[in-house]
Amino acid sequence: MAAKLGAKIDNLIEALRCLPGVGPKSAQRMTFHLLERNRDGAERLAAALSQALEQVQHCERCRILSEDALCARCADTERRQDQLCIVEMPSDVVAIEQATQYKGQYFVLSGHLSPLDGIGPEALGIPQLITRFDEHEIEEVILATNPTVEGEATAHYISQLAQTRNISVTRLAHGIPLGGELEYVDSGTLSHAFSGRESI
Ligand SMILES: [Zn+2]
Repeated sequence: MAAKLGAKIDNLIEALRCLPGVGPKSAQRMTFHLLERNRDGAERLAAALSQALEQVQHCERCRILSEDALCARCADTERRQDQLCIVEMPSDVVAIEQATQYKGQYFVLSGHLSPLDGIGPEALGIPQLITRFDEHEIEEVILATNPTVEGEATAHYISQLAQTRNISVTRLAHGIPLGGELEYVDSGTLSHAFSGRESI
């Protein structure tokens, strides 16, 4: 743990530890950097953070981060309305958009089913997803959850919800490494997996 440097400094060190991969040592280094060397940067960071927290919400349709009630993709009427691609993380949407020609809708779960961590269907927006299925616009659900145990379990759960409503379900197939994460798959592989998706 950081030595006692004063309540406000300790508090900042502790706060920085909410970032992924930041332990006590790097949090302390960041704190010193911000306070000693880059106070302008620190002010920009504080302002950007508080503005983003105030003005960025989740798109009410796909749950991706958005400054408006509907994100640009959901508001785009040129996109296909009959395909819905389901991903774990917002970064997966970015990866698929960059790697493929997909022009349908998205739904972001923000995680995967993980009963041990208390992450159930509610936390993943499944009730909202069911409402979307029941609007009868979606004809194909593309499951693009990660090929991990949890991602597969989540995909299986959602595929059953879709299939009982007579929606066809496909799953990304070739070349995605087992246990991998979509975000880190190269775009050629992701593009191939997307176009080679299989019915399940
Ligand atoms: Zn959206």
